Amino acid sequence: MPENVSPPTLEEIAGITQDEIVQFLTERVKNHPCPACGTNKWEVAMAPDYVFGLIGLNKNNSFSMPPPLAPLISVVCSHCGYIRSHAANALAIWKRNKPAKA
Ligand SMILES: [Zn+2]
Repeated sequence: MPENVSPPTLEEIAGITQDEIVQFLTERVKNHPCPACGTNKWEVAMAPDYVFGLIGLNKNNSFSMPPPLAPLISVVCSHCGYIRSHAANALAIWKRNKPAKA
């Protein structure tokens, strides 16, 4: 069956769990030491009830409320605090299409 790659809903993004982030990154991002300090100790950065992301500006330099948002999942280097982010849409699409556990 072909993958369903349509843009995820905010409900799909909001339903992503810490365990799913770890599973996704373990599967999709192989060895990735911190580019700042070289260690490989990452922690998932999550806040209950919030979805973080990049906020878009209108091209005429004005804001919209709510603003357009590119949702992100972020992990923090526990040694130096460097933050790296991945588009949450990629994780939501991966989650939607991953085989169910037997
Ligand atoms: Zn680091």
